[in-house]
Amino acid sequence: MGCRIIPGVGIACSRGTMGGKPVCCMPGCSRAAAHLCDWKLKGRKAGETCSAPICASHALEVGPEKHLCPAHAAAWANHPSNPKNQTNPETKT
Ligand SMILES: [Zn+2]
Ligand SMILES: [Zn+2]
Repeated sequence: MGCRIIPGVGIACSRGTMGGKPVCCMPGCSRAAAHLCDWKLKGRKAGETCSAPICASHALEVGPEKHLCPAHAAAWANHPSNPKNQTNPETKT
């Protein structure tokens, strides 16, 4: 059991509880984490990565050895650096 949702509090995660192996951070998902989120944090945690444990089916692969947790996959979907958001790469203003 990786995470549980506590009403009024949020999501409480217990990391690394499955025989010493990290478990997927998604609520209700108890698969072993195959990846850690590679999202680069900003502000006080600049230089660090999110590092949320994610199983193979919840990880979004954005590059070689680069994976995002579902929360950051959603952030990436709207990120200006995402090639998918650059609809007209040949158009320069
Ligand atoms: Zn999962
Ligand atoms: Zn993340």
